[in-house]
Amino acid sequence: MQVDIAIVGAGLVGSAAFRYLSQNQYQTVLIGPKHVDGSSIAGNSDNPVVTSSSDEGRIARTLEADHVWVKLAIASMARYRSIEKKADMTFYERCRCVCAAPANHPRVSGMVESAKTLKQECVVLSHEDAKRRLPWLALPKNYVAVIMDGGVINSRVMIDAQQSLGKQQSGTVIHGMNMVLNSIDVYKDVVTHIIQSSGGAEVITASGERVFAKRVLVATNAATNHTHLLSEPLALRTCTETVVLCEPAVETATLLRHMTCLLYVGEDDRDSCYILVCTR
Ligand SMILES: Cc1cc2nc3c(=O)[nH]c(=O)nc-3n(C[C@H](O)[C@H](O)[C@H](O)COP(=O)(O)OP(=O)(O)OC[C@H]3O[C@@H](n4cnc5c(N)ncnc54)[C@H](O)[C@@H]3O)c2cc1C
Repeated sequence: MQVDIAIVGAGLVGSAAFRYLSQNQYQTVLIGPKHVDGSSIAGNSDNPVVTSSSDEGRIARTLEADHVWVKLAIASMARYRSIEKKADMTFYERCRCVCAAPANHPRVSGMVESAKTLKQECVVLSHEDAKRRLPWLALPKNYVAVIMDGGVINSRVMIDAQQSLGKQQSGTVIHGMNMVLNSIDVYKDVVTHIIQSSGGAEVITASGERVFAKRVLVATNAATNHTHLLSEPLALRTCTETVVLCEPAVETATLLRHMTCLLYVGEDDRDSCYILVCTR
């Protein structure tokens, strides 16, 4: 197969790039496993592929101390409805987001400053006001709650929507066949080599598929250095995160129905976490 652009990695970034590039008359192919399961999220020796977008809940929010971050977040969120409409799929639900942090934490002042400069909604609740207005949240005494606009993204559906639009625009997706070996999912459609030559590069997958592309976009996130796809490793620092998926009882879910997404900034960064609203 010969194309203008091959995109390696069918996660959030690769799928968005696929939709965008295939609408610009480029012959585009997206190569990568479809929805890698949580069991392989950290990769293993049979399957070094890791993914950050395997579940259904991602927080989108409008405030952070970094202005560029805020501008990009707002620009992204502004596109969600039109992508949903075109793809006829729903992946974004708007809801408030609360950042709970020590009152004197630089993140709080940074968010307030961003809100002022970039004209975003921002309400800072004292500990007492937070207790009254956010009864689902018990905060330490020295904490405040910053309320901002945001929402929840179902990353799997968002990826499907982006890919569906890319395909409608004549892009091609190679997901290949997955197989299970000793109870481990092995993805035969991962890219194993990118061989550069004059005028482009050849992209080779584990199942032997070969694609010649004038340009290759590698969107493999934390897996990039594991799989040695680039001639030189990227200066990436990979770290571990603990992910807890909870299925609350109906009564608990009912009690939490007024909950918003929560970012909890710990006094010690190791105690920080974020919690999504119930997604089902
Ligand atoms: C637990 C967790 C929670 C998060 N929560 C949030 C949140 O609430 N809000 C938020 O904005 N962000 C969140 N993030 C970050 C967000 O998920 C990532 O920024 C985003 O997924 C990055 O997109 P990506 O396409 O670069 O990478 P990914 O989504 O990880 O996609 C990379 C893709 O490359 C594929 N791949 C890897 N190697 C190969 C190969 N050799 N050949 C072919 N394909 C390959 C993988 O299968 C995967 O599909 C979270 C991340 C994690 C880990």
